[in-house]
Amino acid sequence: MQVFHSKKELRNSLSSFNTKNHTIGMVPTMGALHQGHLVLVKRAFLEHNCVVVSIFVNPTQFNNNDDLRKYPNTLDKDVQLLKTISDKIIVFAPTANEIYAGKIKSNSYQFNGLDTLMEGKFRAGHFNGVATIVELLLNAVMPDMAYFGEKDFQQLQIIKKLVQIAAIPIKIRGCPIVREPNGLAMSSRNERLSEEARKNVGFIYKILKSAKKKFGTKSAIYTIHWVQNQFKKKPDFKLEYFQITNIDTLTPVLRKQKGKKYRAFVAVYIEGVRLIDNIALN
Ligand code: AMP
Repeated sequence: MQVFHSKKELRNSLSSFNTKNHTIGMVPTMGALHQGHLVLVKRAFLEHNCVVVSIFVNPTQFNNNDDLRKYPNTLDKDVQLLKTISDKIIVFAPTANEIYAGKIKSNSYQFNGLDTLMEGKFRAGHFNGVATIVELLLNAVMPDMAYFGEKDFQQLQIIKKLVQIAAIPIKIRGCPIVREPNGLAMSSRNERLSEEARKNVGFIYKILKSAKKKFGTKSAIYTIHWVQNQFKKKPDFKLEYFQITNIDTLTPVLRKQKGKKYRAFVAVYIEGVRLIDNIALN
């Protein structure tokens, strides 16, 4: 399996794939890989004969230094895990200086409000950081298609917008959320939970499913209050936000309209670990 740390070596290796008969699929990650990431990689392999997985913990998208410091760094383990899918996968694991060419700084983008709610509201500068690194990585790899999880649905919408505004000729594909047996959305951060919390945290998905049922017959406001009350009864969970939005604009929904698609989003702290999840409501 080839692991590259420099853009130049990566480009040399990929030049043979930028031909008519080959297409490149890319899965950008921050490493500490789990089944959620592997499903994206397998999907990319079904659709392309070359797959690049980037592994880079991007400092500019963390608004909290402690969160960045605690983010797991497990490159060797990640490579072994990818080998279980195919040893033809190409791993791109650049250093910060290599990918940022010395200037570790975010660009500023105009996302027309997609970036100011929910994750954007509670993690200042997060989406400028995400968009900057995704633009740099896409330009370094130049895939035909890049795969992102609906686990980070707001990020997925931001990246679709990014390729539009930056005129990057790459298709963006969203993939469904992969969950643990108790419903917990898989995440590298789950590793930081105690065994006890990891069992209890299935509560988040249970509430999302109940919210979906409620929203079928009740208003958005009623559903939001109901969810907030359920979390109030659970002192171990600190709810940061629960929001019901239109799926395209991500603006909060006050009144349901026929023919519109809605999604519910949640961010919760448990044992000081911040978890996010979401569900399609219709
Ligand atoms: P991360 O390494 O957390 O930045 O995630 C890399 C990519 O994997 C992102 O597009 C995530 O949305 C996606 N991803 C992470 N966890 C899951 C999951 N449980 N289900 C689906 N996609 C996921």
